[in-house]
Formats: sequence, C-alpha cells, structure tokens
Amino acid sequence: MPTPAVNTIDAVRHQVREARRRGLSIGLVPTMGALHEGHASLFRLARAETGFVVATIFINPTQFGPNEDFSKYPRTLEADLEICGRDGVDLVFHPDPSTIYPPDFRTYVEVTQLQDFLCGASRPGHFRGVATVVLKLFNIVQPDVAYFGQKDAQQVRIIQQLAADLDVPVKIRVGAIVREPDGLALSSRNRYLDPSQRRQALALIETLREAQRRIEAGERDGRSIQRTMQARIETTPDAVLDYAAVVDANSLQPLERLHGEVLLALAVKFGGTRLIDNLLVTV
Ligand code: AMP
Repeated sequence: MPTPAVNTIDAVRHQVREARRRGLSIGLVPTMGALHEGHASLFRLARAETGFVVATIFINPTQFGPNEDFSKYPRTLEADLEICGRDGVDLVFHPDPSTIYPPDFRTYVEVTQLQDFLCGASRPGHFRGVATVVLKLFNIVQPDVAYFGQKDAQQVRIIQQLAADLDVPVKIRVGAIVREPDGLALSSRNRYLDPSQRRQALALIETLREAQRRIEAGERDGRSIQRTMQARIETTPDAVLDYAAVVDANSLQPLERLHGEVLLALAVKFGGTRLIDNLLVTV
C-alpha cells in the first residue's frame, strides 16, 4: 500500500499532533524523492526507533545552482509512495515549492565555515539552501529524531552544527552508506550514467578503499594519501575530479598528520553527472 501523502503544512502538523496524542515519538526522514535502498534504509531505521515516521519528498530549489540539474532531477512520486509504504513510512509530506518558499520569503540560514569548502566550493549556496530547508522541515514537523545518510557527510556535519547552534530539540541519527553489490554508492543520479561511465564510477570506492588500506598499513601523511587519491581519479579516462579530500571528520579541515576520525571524501564528474562518496577511518 502506498503511504498517504499531504502537501500542506497544516495537514502535516495535524497528523503529527494526532500521533503525539497517541503517545508516539516522531521520526523525520528528509529526501528529494527518486527513492532507492539508501533512502529505504533510513526509513527502516526510523521505523525501528520512532513511533510515527514522516518522510518528506521535496526537490529543494534553493540548494541547486543555476547550472545544476534542478529541472531534470528525477521525479518518481508514485513509485516513491510505494517504497514509503513498504518500508514503514506513516506519512509523506510532498509540498509544492511555493508552500516552502512563498513569494515574500526572506530568511536563509548559513552554517559558516563548514559550508564553504568540499562540496560547497563547487556548489556555492548549496548548503545555505540545505540548512534553510532542513530547519524549516524541523519547524514544520518538530521531530524527536531526524535521519540523514553518511553518503552526504558534509551535509550531516552541517545539520548537526545547525541543530546544536540553534537549539533545535531534535536528535540527529546517521545511517550508513548503502552500496550496489560492486561498491558504487546508491544515488538518485546514478541513472544518468551510461554503461561505460557506470563501470568507471567504481573508481570512487576503489580509490577510497585503497586510501583506507594505506592508512591501516600505517601511512599517516595526509597529503600523500590525498595525492594518490587525486592521481587515481585523474587516470580514470572519463572522470573529472572535483575534489579528493583527507579531512578531520569534525572540522572538515585537511589533515597533514592523520589522527582521530578521518574522513576520506571524493566528488567526481562523469559528463554532467556529479558523484560523491566517502569513507570514515579511525586512526
Ligand atoms: P536525497 O534524496 O539525495 O536528498 O537524500 C536523502 C537522504 O538519503 C540524505 O540524508 C542522504 O544522505 C540519504 N542517502 C542518499 N543516498 C544514500 C545511500 N546510498 N546510503 C545511505 N543514505 C543515502
């Protein structure tokens, strides 16, 4: 059975109020739709931990740059509602852009420092759009727990910082990256890859695992790891490197000497398709 969907703020608030009256805790899973197993794993986590699971399906225009894929981002609402039904979502909030951003909308949220490098460097304004819409969704749904994927590692850090800095009473939970059997991280954008690009896209996870192996074998020079990651992507014929990063998992700043929680992160373009992936390594 597909999950029921509502598109007004009043309707979501009404249903959440009813759930709370029944003594249920509220889980929120924000998505942009085109759902796959990565999203479904977050739904199941929310189902296991909270009493009433709200998924949002909203392609947020403010997080797309002028030359990005907002207008051609996949829209598959009917299939999405089936997946939500199958994986335990109680309610889908699927607002129109004008519901979230009425014509007189004026207020944006920025998480300084964390937003300007890695994905933020090549996507100016992206994390301002993300932070703004996520804070709005927190205020609309008022969840006890909100679920995000480690796939978007920088997004996770920014949202944790946002919730802490602005005293949002929500617990942030992070779900592991769900991958294809061959290791490619699931993404709504993978469908844009042609067969040759799809094969070459394995360079991301292979590069990350190679870096992880070197660290586990004792390498502690962050710049050396970064250089080999970059070289590996640059020798992949159709890959265009956006960034290869070896950073502190908390500050997201480059590490010269590896210690603590290290985030290995990549962003790579194949034609017009930009893919990201990452691994966390504890040193
Ligand atoms: P999106 O619809 O791409 O905005 O993603 C919605 C949520 O699903 C975000 O918190 C993502 O990090 C998460 N997500 C996307 N792909 C994956 C994946 N392969 N594994 C785990 N979580 C994912």
